[in-house]
Parts: sequence; C-alpha cells; structure tokens
Amino acid sequence: MTQTMTETSQQLPVEKNEVAYQSYHFGDTDFLVPPRYISLSARGIGAQGAVCAAYDTGTQQNVAIKKLSRPFQNVTHAKRAYREFKLMKLVNHKNIIGLLNAFTPQRTLEEFQDVYLVMELMDANLCQVIQMDLDHERMSYLLYQMLCGIKHLHSAGIIHRDLKPSNIVVKSDCTLKILDFGLARTAGTTFMMTPYVVTRYYRAPEVILGMGYTENVDIWSVGCIMGEMIRGGVLFPGTDHIDQWNKIIEQLGTPSAAFMQRLQPTVRNYVENRPRYTGYSFDRLFPDVLFPSDSNEHNRLRASQARDLLSRMLVIDPEDRISVDQALVHSYINVWFEESEVNAPAPGPYDHSVDEREHTVEQWKELIYQEVMEYEARIGGGGNAAEAVGGNAR
Ligand code: AMP
Repeated sequence: MTQTMTETSQQLPVEKNEVAYQSYHFGDTDFLVPPRYISLSARGIGAQGAVCAAYDTGTQQNVAIKKLSRPFQNVTHAKRAYREFKLMKLVNHKNIIGLLNAFTPQRTLEEFQDVYLVMELMDANLCQVIQMDLDHERMSYLLYQMLCGIKHLHSAGIIHRDLKPSNIVVKSDCTLKILDFGLARTAGTTFMMTPYVVTRYYRAPEVILGMGYTENVDIWSVGCIMGEMIRGGVLFPGTDHIDQWNKIIEQLGTPSAAFMQRLQPTVRNYVENRPRYTGYSFDRLFPDVLFPSDSNEHNRLRASQARDLLSRMLVIDPEDRISVDQALVHSYINVWFEESEVNAPAPGPYDHSVDEREHTVEQWKELIYQEVMEYEARIGGGGNAAEAVGGNAR
C-alpha cells in the first residue's frame, strides 16, 4: 500500500563529525542524509517508514533510501527492523532487494533515533503493475522472478508467509525484486502499533487458520498475485480472517475432511460449521476473456497454461498445492528457466534465534545501533569508504 508524499522544503545542514548531513522535508517526514545523496524525491510509505528516491554521487547510481523512524519505539518494530537488517545483509540474489548502505545521522547511542537503509532503486511496486494489461511474456516473467526469489529465501531457511504486491518492486525492463522477508517464526502473537493497515489478502489458509506450514505456503501468495493480475481485482479481499476464509471457500469450495482433521479443535469447530460450498471451476473463476491473447513470441504461452498453473497454486490444502520447484518447471514458467537464477548458491543459514529473542526496548535499541555502526565502519555509512578508513571519531 503506497501513499504519495509531497516535498515541501530541503537543505538544512546538520553536522555529524565532519559530514554535514542535509535535511529534506516530505510532508511530516524529515530525511537527514549525508551530502553524497542528492535530488531526493518521495516514493512511498510502508509499515516501517518512508522511502525516497535519490542519486548517490559516491557510486553514481540511483538509489532508494528508506527511513526507519525510531525503529526501537516498541518491541515489535524493533524485532522487525533488526531482522530485516540482518537478512538484507545476509541475502544476495537478483530477485531480492540488496542493501547498498546504512547510516544514522545521530552520533551516539543516547541520541540514536533513526536508521536509513540505502537500496537499489526500482520503478514501481506490483500494486501499480497489476493495474496494467500484462501480456503473457511479462506475466510469466514476473512470476518466474518471484519464484526464483522465494526459492532463494527458502534455501536460507526463510519462509516468507506474507508476500504481497506492495512488497514487490519492479523496473520498467520487467525485472523484479522482493522487498522484505515476511513474518518471523514467532510473529503470530505480536501486535503492531501502527496506523498503517496490514494487508492480509495474500496470506495462505494455513496462516489464516494457524496451522503448521511448509515452503509452499508462499505459493498461495504467488497464486493470489497471479489471479489478481488476470482478474484486475483482489481475489480474497476479507475484512478480517473470518471474512477472508469465507471468500476463499465461496470461490474454491469447502476443503476436504482430511484437511479439517489437521486443524486445531477450536478452529476446526468453526471451519466445519461454515456452510458447505462446492466452489467454481477455474474456467468459471478465470474465463478466457480475462486473459491476454495467446503469445505469438513464445508460442507456448497460452491462457490454458496460465489457468492450469493458477489451479495448482490456489489449492487450499497445502498437501495438494504445487511446490516452488514444480512451479518453476511448469510450462507457463519454464520458458525463462536459467540455472544460475533458479539455483543460485544459498546464502549462509539464517539464525532463527533472532526471531525468538526477547529484549527490552533499550536492548533492541543498542543491538540495532551496533548493526548500523558495523555497517558504517564497513561501507562508510554516512560519509564514504575513504572517510571510514580514516575512522569516525565518536
Ligand atoms: P516498504 O516500506 O519497504 O514497505 O516500502 C513502501 C513502498 O516504497 C513500496 O511499496 C514501494 O512503492 C516503495 N519502495 C520501497 N523500496 C523501494 C525501492 N528499492 N525502489 C523503489 N521503490 C521502493
């Protein structure tokens, strides 16, 4: 979910050691950045903070700068910020957003307020792309890249569970990157104090119903995104989990008794007592008129193949749902198959104890601060690499 920010004024130098930080105002958000970043313009707002586009005079490339405002303001925000930061450092794949730099304008732990993450700049998020009429080439290429990124996360032991169009970004050349790392393993019980509305439309039945899950939980979200590209509207726009479950079974039908058996007793009681639906065939749910015309270029890309893939992804019971590996070799997707993209070397394994750790807000603040300092020392953070070699006197 993005929101437009309007720029009102800029340029108010603030000293941090020898580096004069420049201040830019966008609505009620201030961006305080080292002078190497110029031409800032507002891009979007997410659950964690605001995002600007900028030009990095140090590396001479366009970048996105995300400001995490007081990421340690409560334990949920802090855990999420720390996890995202750690994971961005760990993962290196063309379909996952890469971290180029990180800095804070504050000089000490006591003053520490904000973290800025510098990433590759993309052109739009998938919410905007879904509105467009996509041909089969583009649609299958976008899906292929999502699957490559997801497979790579899985290879590091990260199961996303919360993929959604606002957290997937694309460039005009149709390249795609996943922006975030989804739910922490213990996220089920956390509570996010934010005015930002959390989108749950893309969450799999096993997440909605609090069941165990495996990697193909992420396939459900890809199916929802693909279906939305075809239909031009959200498939299961529930106002809450109950409403969303109803939307799912009305279209896909009540799941089997074997699925019900695997639910916790209270959830099972609720699910079994819903009216029974037979659901609709995929021909009815996604009729031919909704699809782009069959491809001339890749003669093999057709509506029937797209619908076949969709019918294997949007399966309520994960035991019957297609896996990521199977989706990557499906005839609608495998026209793009490139070994180095699909089976890129796995990143180092992710230490899940981060997700389970309990700290006070003060302890999280210190942990996040240390991570930023480590980055500033390594990359040059606020200044540039040359300044970092000389060492920052704090
Ligand atoms: P986030 O806070 O990560 O959820 O991002 C909020 C919004 O900012 C996204 O939906 C995108 O529209 C935009 N955005 C985030 N990161 C980038 C990026 N690297 N390039 C371009 N736009 C971005």
